[in-house]
Amino acid sequence: MNERRDGRSPQTTLLLFDIDGTLLLSGGAGKRALNETFEELFGVAGGFDGIPVAGRTDPLLFNDALARHGMTAAADLRARFHDRYCELLAETILSPLPRKGLMPGVRELLDGLDDRAGLRIALLTGNYARAARIKLEYFGLWQHFACGAYGDDAATRDELVPVAMARARGRGIDIRSPTQVVVIGDTPLDIRCARAAGAWSVAVATGPFDEAELRSHGADRVLPDLADTAGCIDVLETLATAACGRS
Ligand SMILES: [Mg+2]
Repeated sequence: MNERRDGRSPQTTLLLFDIDGTLLLSGGAGKRALNETFEELFGVAGGFDGIPVAGRTDPLLFNDALARHGMTAAADLRARFHDRYCELLAETILSPLPRKGLMPGVRELLDGLDDRAGLRIALLTGNYARAARIKLEYFGLWQHFACGAYGDDAATRDELVPVAMARARGRGIDIRSPTQVVVIGDTPLDIRCARAAGAWSVAVATGPFDEAELRSHGADRVLPDLADTAGCIDVLETLATAACGRS
């Protein structure tokens, strides 16, 4: 894909990775820190219990927890919640938690993608930006990502692809069209946000949804996991080549 017959320089493709369920599992550190923060600030234990989390943004989860308990929060309290949650997450993720770890093949895939001309790696996640960094730094992955779009950038995930594209351009990455963007995630909401923006979607069945469910939501490609490094890179480069043909 890096050599074009017309001699023009190859087009860049932006790969936007989700974090939880796609790259890693925090072992429940996120949920635990959310609940502890909510209890500290509002005096309610288990504030986030029963609230669906997969693919949703941290501010939306907070809104749901507030609504469930008949509460509201002004901007200053939301800021305190964010700050304290990030403090507690940074502590909690150090604990020995069951199922905490990287998904199979993630480190090898990111290492492999780092060397690929024409591909740039960034984030699209519902995590607060600071929480995303805490999780990825814990696993030694933060340095792979050029930039990202986060839960604090928009009310819903559907708005995050344009944010990521703008941020990439701000870092000098030549992304002009959403057809140059691939969203990689583990939930129907990841697929939906790609489709909403006109980007490609690659769904991985390492989260709560199996391959058939992800396929039924219209993912352009569905992978069982990211363990097959060469196979994953091939899928991503094929989509990048298709993007060159489309634009
Ligand atoms: Mg996820």
